[in-house]
Formats: sequence, structure tokens, C-alpha cells
Amino acid sequence: MERIETDAIIIGGGATGCGIARDFALRGVDCVLIEKHDFAAGTTGRNHGLLHSGARYAVKDESSARECIAENIILKKIARHCIEDTGGLFVTLPGDDPAYHDLLLAGCRKTGIAARDIGRKEALAREPNLNPEITAAIAVPDATIDPFRLASSNILDAVERGARVRTHCEVTGIILSGTAAAGIRCRDRKSGQRLEVHGRVIVNASGVWGQEICRLAGIELLMFPSKGSMVILDYRINSLVINRCRKPGDGDILVPGDTVSLIGTTSEKIPYESIHDLEVTPDEIQALLRDGEKLVPNLSRTRVLRAFCGVRPLVATGKGATGRDISRGIVLVDHKERDGLDNFITIAGGKLMTYRLMAEQATDLACRKLGVTAKCRTHLLPLPGSERFKVPIRRRANFGESVIESTYYRHGTRAGDILAGPGADESLICECEMVTAREVAYAIRHLQAADIVDLRRRTRIGMGPCQGLLCAYRCAGAFMDVKGVDGSEATRMLIDFLEERWKGIRPVLWGDTLREAEFAYWICEGTFGLGKIVAKGAGKGEGVVIEEEYK
Ligand SMILES: Cc1cc2nc3c(=O)[nH]c(=O)nc-3n(C[C@H](O)[C@H](O)[C@H](O)COP(=O)(O)OP(=O)(O)OC[C@H]3O[C@@H](n4cnc5c(N)ncnc54)[C@H](O)[C@@H]3O)c2cc1C
Repeated sequence: MERIETDAIIIGGGATGCGIARDFALRGVDCVLIEKHDFAAGTTGRNHGLLHSGARYAVKDESSARECIAENIILKKIARHCIEDTGGLFVTLPGDDPAYHDLLLAGCRKTGIAARDIGRKEALAREPNLNPEITAAIAVPDATIDPFRLASSNILDAVERGARVRTHCEVTGIILSGTAAAGIRCRDRKSGQRLEVHGRVIVNASGVWGQEICRLAGIELLMFPSKGSMVILDYRINSLVINRCRKPGDGDILVPGDTVSLIGTTSEKIPYESIHDLEVTPDEIQALLRDGEKLVPNLSRTRVLRAFCGVRPLVATGKGATGRDISRGIVLVDHKERDGLDNFITIAGGKLMTYRLMAEQATDLACRKLGVTAKCRTHLLPLPGSERFKVPIRRRANFGESVIESTYYRHGTRAGDILAGPGADESLICECEMVTAREVAYAIRHLQAADIVDLRRRTRIGMGPCQGLLCAYRCAGAFMDVKGVDGSEATRMLIDFLEERWKGIRPVLWGDTLREAEFAYWICEGTFGLGKIVAKGAGKGEGVVIEEEYK
């Protein structure tokens, strides 16, 4: 069994865990991050991707609003290539309480959010697809943030500064020494091998799974999960973030992101046991589309690409099981104070966009335990790719403008190194998102993409209109070329990828989407013979035959 020694152990590779790894590395603390699946595979990759201005909280939750606007300003500086500074609107529809408009403006003034009453005419000029019946509009500094790029850039920086990371590796036990936590036991989910990591402090950044990790340490931390479903539309129908100007409710945020738009969300309290097995229901989709159509009427004529859901990690701050003391803010727990277990910290709650602040708070506490005095610098130093200069790519590589711009969009100033990287292959792997063979090779070599599903999070492969149908098999080939995987492993990756995509498409199978799914099945079966390949686990009572899945 492999054994690793370190100072700090981080459990969970969501935005928070990745941010903590970077923070430790910047303070010169040796750290190891363990992630069960892939970076941003948990709630971090399952949300709107809205970089709140704070206006959504300005009426009811002043401290969240202040937190949001402070982080909004910081992230726009340090994570430039992960953010699209779209701006946002809060629009009032006929029937909405008109008084909320004034309350929101007053709340924004009080919390330092630059909100401006722009009126109906200017709002329609800025966002022509808006419902022309809106009665009022406020402009706010909302923006969008790509959670995959954000997590990956934090890890890239952490690793370049000495952090060690393991993905597809599950924490299965906490090693205790007297009244202190001393390490973790893990299992590599791909190889099945066991691993022990020994450290002086453990940070539990496993989001909604934090309850399970605490249980492994013999302590209780109750989570009250709240499920939210979202729907992705085939193309970008809005250019600004559109919020409904009313008390926050379902289906009131429409967010543009890359080449698509996203409407969300629902909110439903669910039993903790069901966090492992979530599905979006047709009723949720219909409700979201109905509400979204009120903001942008042509939404109903737009093809639905896929649906997905995430779970808000709401934490009970006390020890009671009633859930009356649930926090919607950041929860930092020193388990020495709370449970008498030293060297064990949990950081949970908060938002994607407060990940850096959460990381700072958790790392500050961990450093106090380690006796490290170095201060946090994550608010000052740009992430790799987000530096202010623009690299002169054209002189170094032989690619068209759209390919260069797409690569730059995804990787910022690292685009030059990617496009001028080793190897003679200048082919395009994904036409929807303009991803080159070099970018794929870079993601496999430097961004810990272990399979095609991971590759999707690093490069947006499979996120465009074809949903990976035309590029996934090329990616499988790239894994053979770059990583030397054999044919059966590459085929397995392809099947896993198609199954993953299928999960998001299944709830929205009607109209054009149904026709496209049948077309996709026909291609997979006719071209690659995948209809006859039995997927992972078959024969052990848990597998599925692709052919049956598509029917
Ligand atoms: C529907 C919805 C919409 C949202 N919209 C927004 C938004 O627009 N803007 C915003 O700022 N926030 C939004 N949020 C909130 C935001 O997504 C989360 O607060 C944030 O992503 C949590 O990140 P995290 O890193 O703390 O947790 P996660 O991203 O959940 O990370 C935890 C990680 O721990 C790993 N893990 C679990 N168990 C183990 C184990 N045993 N061993 C190793 N690893 C393990 C998981 O695989 C996971 O990757 C939304 C949330 C939801 C649910």
C-alpha cells in the first residue's frame, strides 16, 4: 500500500477544495488533495455559474450581499479568463409586486452594489429578447463564471507550486491518533489500489458529502440538502444575466454561458440518503420552461439540450437534528472546539463565487494549527491564464482566428503554450467548441484529465450542440495517442462518456431532442458498433446495454 506524508490534507476537489490547495501552496505549505471523482464533479459543476453581484440577497440577507460584491470584484481581477463580465438585469413582470423594485435598489445602495434603475426601454435595447411587457428594470454587475475552468486553474497553480493531487480516489476512512485526526485512508477508484495519507491537519471540503466524511471521523455534522434542477438551451438566447425582480423563487434566473443559455432553478428539500441518486423530473423541466418563457418569450421555441441538478450543501450549525439552525452562509467548523477532535476542520455552505473566501478562512484556521504565519495572497495573484497581458499566439502557431480565440477564451494567457505545444497534430477535435488536438493533449498531460468525461470539464468537449457525438471517439483516440491506453480502455471511456451525456438528455426527450437522440443512437450503433457493447458492470447485475438505454 502506498503511503504519503504531508502537512495538510484536503478532502474534496470542488471549487472550495481546489481554492484551499492553491492557498496552501501559495503560503508554502505542503498539501495533498484527494477527490473521489474529478475536480468540479460535485456541486461546483452543477449550478448556474452566476457570479452574483449580491443584488439577489440585498433585500433579505445583507451580509451575503456584501460578501458577494466583495468577491465579485476580486474574482473579476484574479480569474479573468473564467469570467464573462456580461452584466445583469433585474426585471419586473406584470403581476410582480412593484414595491420589490424599490426595495432592491435600496438594498443595493446600502450594501455597496452598483445598481441602476434603467427603465424598460433601455433594458429592451440592451436585451432585445426580453419580454416586452416588463414594467421596470435594474442593471447590476452580475457576471457569469465557468466553474470547471475556475477549479482547474486553481489546481494548475497549486500543482505548479508543489501541491499533490489525486482524482478518482475516494476517502474511505479517517486515521485517528488519540483525540486528533492524523490521516486518511483512500481507494483509487480506477485501479482499486489502497493509499494512506498522513498529515498534521485535515480540511474536509467535501461539500454536501461532508456529513459522510465527519461520520468517518466519528463525529456528527448534519446537512440538509436542497436539490435544484436546471435546463440548458441549445443556443445563447440572452447576453445579460436576467433575474426576476421579486423575492427569490423558482425559475427566475436565466444565465448565458459560452454557446448556450441556462434557466434555473427549482428548490426542493430532499432526504440526505437521496443525494447519491438524483434525477430531474419532467414536471421540473416544464415548470422551469414555463417560468423562463415569462422572462424571454422565445425560450419556448428553443431546443432544450439537456437538464441536470445539483444539491445545495446547507449545514446545520448546531448539533440538533431538527434543521432549525440551518445556515445559508459559509460554515467553518473547528472540530476541536465543537467535538473535541483536533486537527480536523470542515468548510461548507457558501456559494461557488465565495469559494476563494471560504478557502481563505479554512486555510487561515489550518495554518494557525500548523503554526504557519504566511498570509493569504489568493485575492492578489491572478490565476494562471488570467494575467493582464495577451500572448502573441498568431506568430507561434498555424491556426485560424476562431480556433485561437476559443483557446484563449478557455485558457487565457496559457493559450500560446497550448497551441504551440509539442507534436505535429494541428487537427480540430471538436467543431462545436473549436477544440484542437493540442488542447486535448494539454488537458491530458497538464490538467489531470483522466478520461473523456474529465476532458469535457477541461475543454468543453461535448458541451456544444452535438453533445459530443461527433468528437468523443476522436477523444478516445487522443487518449490512446497521448496516454497510451489500449483499445478496450479507450472504448470503455467512450461508453462511460456517452452514458454520462445520456443521463442529462433522458429527461428532455421530446421533439427535436428525441429525433437527435435517435440519430445519435443510429450513429453509435452503425458506425462504432457500440449498441452491441455491454457497458461497465454488466453481468454483475448493474450494467446496461447501450442499445436498451437508447430505446
Ligand atoms: C442548483 C444550484 C444552483 C447554484 N447556483 C449558484 C450560482 O449561480 N452561483 C454560485 O456562486 N453558487 C451557486 N450554487 C452554490 C454552489 O454551487 C456551491 O455552493 C459550491 O459549488 C460548493 O462547492 P464545494 O467545493 O464546497 O462543494 P462540491 O463542489 O460539492 O465539492 C465537494 C467535492 O468533494 C468530493 N468528495 C465527496 N466525498 C468524497 C470522498 N469520500 N473522498 C474524496 N472526495 C469526496 C466530491 O466528489 C466533490 O467533488 C448553486 C448550487 C445549486 C445546488
